[in-house]
Order: sequence, then structure tokens, then C-alpha cells
Amino acid sequence: MKRLKYTLGIVAMLAGSFINAQEVEPTKPEATELYKPVPPKVTPGANGAPPSDAIVLFDGTSLDNWISAVDSTDAKWILNKDGSMTVKDRTGDILSKQNFGSIQLHIEWRSPAEVQRDGQNRGNSGIFLNGLYEVQVLDNNDNDTYVNGQVASIYKQHTPLAMASVPTGEWNTYDMIYHAPEFEKGQKVKSGTLTVIHNGVLVQDHVEIKGTTPYIGWPKNPPHGKGPLRLQDHGDNSRVSYRNIWVRELD
Ligand code: MG
Repeated sequence: MKRLKYTLGIVAMLAGSFINAQEVEPTKPEATELYKPVPPKVTPGANGAPPSDAIVLFDGTSLDNWISAVDSTDAKWILNKDGSMTVKDRTGDILSKQNFGSIQLHIEWRSPAEVQRDGQNRGNSGIFLNGLYEVQVLDNNDNDTYVNGQVASIYKQHTPLAMASVPTGEWNTYDMIYHAPEFEKGQKVKSGTLTVIHNGVLVQDHVEIKGTTPYIGWPKNPPHGKGPLRLQDHGDNSRVSYRNIWVRELD
């Protein structure tokens, strides 16, 4: 009993000092000003160029930072003279050679000006964070489809807040903030999250990633660490092009 009283006394004393620390408002401005740690300096890129600390995955000069997802050989997509690359039909997805966890991503994409087919078969590609979680790329202009699979959806998980595409054949930008899920002993203990800005418009606002983004079935949560960025060959001659791809690591 004596020991219990002693313990309770200590707890009460600590709680009291905590409350006092919270209640006593500083009277000098310096008391609420921090000088450390100093954030690193980053030089922003001019006219759409990457910031100084970005890892450039594609600048239009080569496909050297990418491999085929089919057999890990050289990426087979088409390198164009205008600084872009285009999906080469039925050569398979491509993967960045470098693996990433949480990242800020900038990527630009364009569906072909000459329209072919409808629905999910018009200018379909996709950007898979961690190689697993797809942000949809689709030519949605005058082309309806299921809304949780439309352009800028987290495929079959989150409908975008807006449809913000530029006219077909023009360049779109996606800026994303991806926080990877966390796993312990083979189980997910914290979901990943995604924020997506499409042509300057917020379309995914820190949404929870429920798991993988399959065409058929529910999301799955296989444990994983870092993984590649994956770009989709939808296999129907989508002719989607990409350019100016860079990331900043967040972990
Ligand atoms: Mg897709």
C-alpha cells in the first residue's frame, strides 16, 4: 500500500509538471523560435527542370535507367527525338533500375492525338509506385469509364477528386507524394498513402493505399521493402508517351 501511494504520488507530480509546462505561455518571442536542425538547401529547377537534389530517371537522352519488367533486359520502349519515350506495344512494362521507398515523383505523360478505341482501351498506361500501386493514366476526354478506374484514380481504390486532363495529345503532369506502407513480421502495420496533383489540381488528397491494384479481385498486401517505379504497357497499342521523370527520396 505504501509503495502504491508512493507510485501514485510520483505519477501525480509528473502529471502536474506536464500540465504546468503546457499552461505557462511564453512571454518572449524567442521562446517559440527554433534554429536547428537547419533544412538542406535545394535549388528549384527553372521552367520545369528538376530540383537540385532530384534523381533523374528520364531526361529524354536514353532509357539507361530502365529495364524490361518481362525479363530484366534493356527497356524496349521507343526513344523519341523530342525528349520523350513511347510505350512499344506488347514489349511489357518497364521498371526503374533503382528501387525507392517513399518518394516525391514528377512525371509527364501524353496520350496520342489520334484517338483509337474507347473506355479503358484508349490511351491506357499507368504509374506503379513501389512497382505495385497504380495511378491510372488514361485518355478520358469524352471517354467515360468506371470512375475508380478513370484518369488519376488509384486504380479501383480511389476515384480522383476531379478530372483535370489537358486536351488529348497535349502533355499532362503528375506530381505525387508517396509514403510507403510499413510491415512487421509479414503483416502490414501501417498503410501507404498517396497524394496526386494532376496539372496543378489536387486529385488524390493523402489517400490510404488499401493494397495492390489488380484488375480482378481485392487489394493484396504482400510485405515489401523498396521497389522500382513501374510504367505500364497496357498491351493494346496505347502509344502513351512519357517525359521528364524525376524523384526525390523521402526516407
Ligand atoms: Mg492502366
